[in-house]
Amino acid sequence: DLVVVGSANADLVVGVERRPAAGETVLGSDLVVHPGGKGANQAVAAARLGARTALLARVGDDAYGRMLLDGQRAAGVDTSGVLVGRVPTGVALITVDSSGDNGIVVSPGANARLTPADVRAASGLLAAARVVSLQLEIPLETVAEVVRAVPPITRVVLNPSPVPPTELPAEVLAACDPLVVNEHEARVLLGESRGVGDTPGEWAAALLALGPRSVVVTLGAAGALAADRQGAVLVPSPRVTAVDTTGAGDAFTGALGHRLAAGDDLPTAVRYAVRVGAASVTRRGAQDSYPTAAEVPAG
Ligand code: ADP
Repeated sequence: DLVVVGSANADLVVGVERRPAAGETVLGSDLVVHPGGKGANQAVAAARLGARTALLARVGDDAYGRMLLDGQRAAGVDTSGVLVGRVPTGVALITVDSSGDNGIVVSPGANARLTPADVRAASGLLAAARVVSLQLEIPLETVAEVVRAVPPITRVVLNPSPVPPTELPAEVLAACDPLVVNEHEARVLLGESRGVGDTPGEWAAALLALGPRSVVVTLGAAGALAADRQGAVLVPSPRVTAVDTTGAGDAFTGALGHRLAAGDDLPTAVRYAVRVGAASVTRRGAQDSYPTAAEVPAG
């Protein structure tokens, strides 16, 4: 079984000609509200593929929290670990201008209140997990508590996004099997190390030196690289016509957690996950774009 511990957000999207300057008001398009947040996205991606998936997260006692819970349940996610409290559900306020550029304000809201104590209270849920999947839209101390709380046999997958301003704790890095990063996250994590080189293979080697047991670097249309201390495998992505890449990384990571929980080795799980990521970019939206197992293109 897969347990995702992470964020749940409502994405509030308005199209504008251009973003307002200070003190200015502009008119925008009709509001569109999508369920989002990296944790909620990953859980939906895995459950839609058929994984037994639970989400440990926090939402507010409000309309967005209910929308997110409904979306999780519709995909088949076990929501018994989703805590509902007085702090509002996290939201991302997104404006998209006429050239397609985003401006985003995130209010973490309830996500920032998922505490180490919440993790300890969910020990039953975590003990049943073969794989725990983590991201960094919740407090780092909460992520660290998950790493301490899970039994040694549980495999920990971490997508360190958004990359924190401080270094990741060594105990968190050491637990990652794999650490999953896109090119941007790889560059930021390696920002301080000089002479790393500029190929995915060199990034993976430098990331392994930070302590994780294995590393996956996702490379958009080029697929993904899986690496551990025995070696690296480049897995190309199937060729598709990309319509909207929002949430592709979360589709990839949810699928990866699903296959690792099913017993695949890392290269085999990555071969499946790139096909799921590719399928997700052929449709609009994040969670709305995630495929069922039958919709995953042949590898
Ligand atoms: P993120 O969404 O975090 O930036 P990537 O862009 O690396 O991450 O995408 C994650 C995965 O989604 C890739 O490894 C690949 O499988 C798939 N993917 C993303 N963009 C494309 C694309 N244009 N064509 C095919 N697959 C894609």
